[in-house]
Amino acid sequence: MAQSNNDEQLKEIIVLGAGVVGLTTALRIQAQGDYRVTIVAENFPIDPKSSRYTSHWAGAHHVSHAYDDLRQRKLDQDTFDVLWKLSEPGGAAEGCFLRHPHTEYRGDDLANAEWLHYMPGFRYIESNELRGPAKTGFSFSTVSMNTPVYLNWLLSEFLAKNGTIVRGSLQHISQLLERGTSPYTGVQSHRDVDALVICAGIGARALGGVEDKDVFPIRGETVLLRAPWVKFGRTMTEADGTYTYSMPRSNGDVLCGGTRVPNDWYPVPRPETTEDILVRALKLTPELAPPQTRVDREPTVEDLRPIIIEPGCGLRPGRKGGIRLEVEWLDAPTRGKVPVVYNYGHSGYGFLSSWGSANMAAELLESAFKTGAPADATPASGDCASENPGN
Ligand SMILES: Cc1cc2nc3c(=O)[nH]c(=O)nc-3n(C[C@H](O)[C@H](O)[C@H](O)COP(=O)(O)OP(=O)(O)OC[C@H]3O[C@@H](n4cnc5c(N)ncnc54)[C@H](O)[C@@H]3O)c2cc1C
Repeated sequence: MAQSNNDEQLKEIIVLGAGVVGLTTALRIQAQGDYRVTIVAENFPIDPKSSRYTSHWAGAHHVSHAYDDLRQRKLDQDTFDVLWKLSEPGGAAEGCFLRHPHTEYRGDDLANAEWLHYMPGFRYIESNELRGPAKTGFSFSTVSMNTPVYLNWLLSEFLAKNGTIVRGSLQHISQLLERGTSPYTGVQSHRDVDALVICAGIGARALGGVEDKDVFPIRGETVLLRAPWVKFGRTMTEADGTYTYSMPRSNGDVLCGGTRVPNDWYPVPRPETTEDILVRALKLTPELAPPQTRVDREPTVEDLRPIIIEPGCGLRPGRKGGIRLEVEWLDAPTRGKVPVVYNYGHSGYGFLSSWGSANMAAELLESAFKTGAPADATPASGDCASENPGN
């Protein structure tokens, strides 16, 4: 929808957070028209990588882990539709994506992957195609994102559509309710805030006014390799939960992982885990080793060392109850109650559910403005049921 010409009539929306969830949500709200959108965040895509910004560390491929959670299935499928379109040849963000074949190998005997049936070319693989400890498996086409590039593309789209960004580290969400962003810009004049949208990821656990103790880190380690000869993805989920993957990117890098450790806050890679990932990744995908090392012998981890770009480590924003998507009404000085929309807790599926959850957040915002503050001001929507850790 086109933006209204009358600037004064635009509602003032502040999105807190500039990870994949905040950026996508801000873009989605902007596209609705009649809103002027500002993103406030401590970390932006152009900054050095850190444990305070999970989105930099993701693969990220679109492989849904929604299982029987119907709402999560819809969020993931809606997102896939958008990402598939963005990645089509000549598409708006083609260079951020690689479309590729992907195979899921399961050591836990999972026979039905109904929630993935919409993926292009989906099929259950034959027993003679299984690898290692796998008892079942399925393959399909998907997209992987070059996450630092894709995040910057989202940011540039937002700016090109008159979005504003402000750097600020909030102690409490009320710091934005009194005079908008002026405490962080130093500009005296301010516009009253009409709504806040909280996309703080793991930050939602400590952020004043939210302090959601259901949010917890699920630490994940990776190793980024330079392997432009690999154009397919693989995942192995073993019966004991060990989870190994390789995700190829459009620029020839391949992200290998992984680990999923709840409540581990250690902020940088552990060398012993890097070694373990290299061993597991090579076992699953010997093709990671440079082609010349595989001509007349089995490749070893030593063959991978010259192509290591960097080990990585991120804190997935896990949440008991799944993604928080709901509205609360909070008091703002001088203007009564304003809606606060929550969209955080995306665990290991923030990229692959980004557009679906942004749609829901934008709809919650619209309906909050339509209906106004309820008398009892209770949350307008429940949690997702999904608690699985995702990718
Ligand atoms: C190893 C690994 C692999 C992954 N692979 C995949 C994958 O293949 N596919 C997939 O879909 N997902 C994957 N994920 C998960 C994905 O990375 C996350 O779900 C996603 O990045 C969460 O995004 P976010 O925007 O909620 O949080 P973040 O990216 O952490 O962004 C949070 C934002 O909020 C801001 N913020 C927080 N608190 C404050 C505050 N007090 N004041 C100001 N700003 C604040 C931060 O500065 C930041 O801008 C992976 C994650 C890891 C770690």
